[in-house]
Amino acid sequence: MGVEDILAKLVSFPVLGGDSNLNIIYWIKNYIESYGVKATLVPNKEETKASLHCRIGPAVDGGVILSGHTDVVPVKGQSWDTDPFTLVKKGSKLFARGSADMKGYIACCLAILPTLSKADLNTPIYFAFSYDEEIGCLAAEELIENIKKTYPENAKYAIIGEPSSLEPVIGKKGVCYVQTEVNGSAGHSSGIHKEISSIHESTRLIMWLENKMKQLSLAKQDQRFDPPHSTIHVGQIFGGVATNIVAEYTRFKWDVRVIPKDTIQTIFDDFFAFCKEREDEVRKLFPSFKITNTLLHPPVPALDTKEIDDIVALTQKICGKRTWKTVAYAAEAGQFHEAGYQSIICGPGSIEQAHRANEFTTKEQLNKCVEMLKKLIIEFSN
Ligand SMILES: [Zn+2]
Repeated sequence: MGVEDILAKLVSFPVLGGDSNLNIIYWIKNYIESYGVKATLVPNKEETKASLHCRIGPAVDGGVILSGHTDVVPVKGQSWDTDPFTLVKKGSKLFARGSADMKGYIACCLAILPTLSKADLNTPIYFAFSYDEEIGCLAAEELIENIKKTYPENAKYAIIGEPSSLEPVIGKKGVCYVQTEVNGSAGHSSGIHKEISSIHESTRLIMWLENKMKQLSLAKQDQRFDPPHSTIHVGQIFGGVATNIVAEYTRFKWDVRVIPKDTIQTIFDDFFAFCKEREDEVRKLFPSFKITNTLLHPPVPALDTKEIDDIVALTQKICGKRTWKTVAYAAEAGQFHEAGYQSIICGPGSIEQAHRANEFTTKEQLNKCVEMLKKLIIEFSN
């Protein structure tokens, strides 16, 4: 099968983040095993989803993990000109959900397998394909743990094929989404002096978050990123019933995106301490006042690969670029970095097309990626 045929097959599985991915992962497993390579599944507790990993080449230290995710974002509410789950070719463009983000890269990995499985490798190449990336990189940690448990030898590098137009990406911010709920009291607005408005209290918390961002931006900067500091942003707020009713309940959702010098947990610790302070204060008047913080997914760590790390030179060599860049989106690269692999993002297709209607990749990007991976095989062969 050529790379386009493989991609056509992969996009025909409409697996959204959160959905069971067993159909696509078993298809990939059968494909890999048809080349005599043993693939290992890493199922979730309910056995409704699974990640997959395999190793091609000798059982020695070193080598690279090629990582991708099998889930995609929804198409609901988007106006597509073609069926999002059928690969449609128009000129050099290939349209489908996931064509760029990031089944294109998985298709390239699978397309080189006939060459890879016969190569005289002196250093191993691993595949690692996950699920539920699009809803908070939920499976990567378990997948990485399982790779470490399965193979006593340690891979050194990871290339995560998020769409980067095949340009090496060495940095991304860490990210976490949070929901904060505030329970105050209800009553007539004329009696606000003896009630606790959850909106008023939420506003204090939101202002605290905004001030925190200002402090962070003055304290630490990393010029590789735009903006060069950590950010905190409240994106949604729900609360209140009417102008003349004290709002008993308010909730708001916010995100924190950190440069590698800041840590998400430290920011949370400071915010949670402030919430506790407010609770202690308000409960003197109204004992059932409550603030509840819920992380909407586990924090996704930052990617912080140094310009001088070997993986940068290796990736530049195989993709034919001498540059590097940083990105703003979340990806499993942060988890591979945190697990000790020199990690880089470099994949076909553009992030401009990801998550949108009429998502596409190009034949040129796919072919270039296949060439890049074939050069990697040469690098790792006798
Ligand atoms: Zn992605």
